[in-house]
Amino acid sequence: MTELAYLADPEAAYVRVFRAHVTALPPGTVVLDRTFFYPTGGGQPNDLGTLRSKGGGSVDVVDVTKSGASVLHRIRGSPGEIQGLAVGLEVEGEVDWPRRYRHMRLHTAQHFLSARIFERNGLRTRKAQIAGNGATLDLEGPLPPNAIDLLATDFEETVAHPRPVRLRHLARAEWDRNPYARRTGLVPLPAHVDPVRVVEIEEYDVCPCGGTHLRSTGEIGAVTLRPPVPVSGGDRVGFTLDDPSRPTPTG
Ligand SMILES: [Zn+2]
Repeated sequence: MTELAYLADPEAAYVRVFRAHVTALPPGTVVLDRTFFYPTGGGQPNDLGTLRSKGGGSVDVVDVTKSGASVLHRIRGSPGEIQGLAVGLEVEGEVDWPRRYRHMRLHTAQHFLSARIFERNGLRTRKAQIAGNGATLDLEGPLPPNAIDLLATDFEETVAHPRPVRLRHLARAEWDRNPYARRTGLVPLPAHVDPVRVVEIEEYDVCPCGGTHLRSTGEIGAVTLRPPVPVSGGDRVGFTLDDPSRPTPTG
């Protein structure tokens, strides 16, 4: 079993370097007792990075997936470095931060955009996917002609006047009564999820999610929205970050 340490609190999403112990070594992979590497899921791609042992050996983490209650870190390295790994060994993990931070910006932007589209147009998001420097949202219907311009204005406003992004854990019954539950109703929560980890964008959104997010909408920075394209079931809206390598604010 792996503790998903990146979930713990909003600051945990900003942890780049951490210590953990190896608990299993399935072929080509490493299982740790805790990890800050995000495994592919919920439309957010996996992290990349490195694992270093005290002796100085280092292997690359080239893929991260969930397998039951464990996180598998697929590794690449020299035979000697891989042989140096052993169950019980303490390692230092380092997340490829520019990639992860880009995902956090895109992911937070996606929550905001899904919320605004629901508020303005009554359309729920069927699926969201982050890839590279952009993300797409598949909606349950078509957007009206002027929608993208209005959404672009909403984005500019929330970047210029940042809203805090918070994490809360709500009892399932409380979440089911929450008015925001309608917005995400197309992606039903499994019955066993209780409490529900929700991500709140002040004023705008509450959404159950196990991904990594920013502290504030201001960190998203400018985005460019593309005109919607019809896909089966509704429109697809895409956007990209204007400055994908914008540095992380400190503090
Ligand atoms: Zn999320």
